[in-house]
Amino acid sequence: MGEFDLIETFFWRRPGQGPRRAVVGNGDDCAVIAPAPGMQLAVSTDTLVEGRHFLSTVSPARLGHKALAVNLSDLAACGAAPMAFTLALTLPRVDEVWLKGFAQGLLDLADEHDCELIGGDTTAGPLAIGITVMGEVPAGQALLRSGAQVGDDLWVSGFPGEARLALEAFRGSLHPGLSTEAFEATRLAMERPDPRVALGVGLRGLATAAIDVSDGLLGDLGHVLRRSRVGAALSLDELPVSPWLAARSPDERLNCILAGGDDYELLFTAPAGQRERVAQLGAELGLVLSRIGQIEAESGLRLWRGAAAGAGEGRQPVPNRWTSFDHFKGAA
Ligand code: ADP
Ligand code: MG
Repeated sequence: MGEFDLIETFFWRRPGQGPRRAVVGNGDDCAVIAPAPGMQLAVSTDTLVEGRHFLSTVSPARLGHKALAVNLSDLAACGAAPMAFTLALTLPRVDEVWLKGFAQGLLDLADEHDCELIGGDTTAGPLAIGITVMGEVPAGQALLRSGAQVGDDLWVSGFPGEARLALEAFRGSLHPGLSTEAFEATRLAMERPDPRVALGVGLRGLATAAIDVSDGLLGDLGHVLRRSRVGAALSLDELPVSPWLAARSPDERLNCILAGGDDYELLFTAPAGQRERVAQLGAELGLVLSRIGQIEAESGLRLWRGAAAGAGEGRQPVPNRWTSFDHFKGAA
């Protein structure tokens, strides 16, 4: 099978199949696309490399899903609704079974989010998947990292830490190991993350700042704090703890939640006066949203145990010993 057959067979849709968002789609020199009037284009790129971002044991369908999911997560963090994406695929060989599974996982998630595959590039080499995603957001309403205000609440969606727990299980570093049930559930979080697109769109005009948690909660929070030129107090006792993490030692639990990474949950700030609306949004979306701290004027991050952060009495400071994952730290 040649390059063009491969592209046409696995990545082009038949008429009537999948969303149509572009004026000119797949198959020409360029795709042509425009956001609706009054909307701005939000663009983001993420690459997944075998051995670095995924294990060779992952099923092709889950890999296809995840490659797009991590990109949709960036759109979500900006409050942008998905429109289209391009796919740069580097393959060591043409494996039709693999390609079929990969395309299925990828395009199923794309269809779910009304996001059209409008072009790409296909080359031979070590397995890598690069995706550029485009979304639209009402002019001036994109959620940024820089908007957090002193006094805002700090929120996180879902249950960060599960993906890291699964990764440690794969590495064989958990003693005791995970039950089969816990392993399969957390493996799903690691291999098949659910991008929080509806949450991001719902947070337009409500959140003051947002980021998706890809490198670990504390590291990503640090980006928001630096860009917003503020600090924060975070209560370790308010962190959402999934049942799988609740069963682990306190040390493992906090490592996974605070510095795990690969979570693709949204971390966001919102005025304290909007608590009801945020809670209502979570209820509408069937998504657990946890209020985990406050934005403060003093720069840096302060971790607390005991009563909710900012409550004053009964709080005990905890030193921050959780560092976040950095691709170039310790890289060979
Ligand atoms: P060119 O050489 O003009 O860049 P290519 O041969 O790279 O064109 O690709 C031919 C067409 O197929 C282009 O429209 C391109 O966007 C599309 N395409 C290539 N690879 C992929 C892919 N992996 N997924 C979707 N579309 C692709
Ligand atoms: Mg090309």
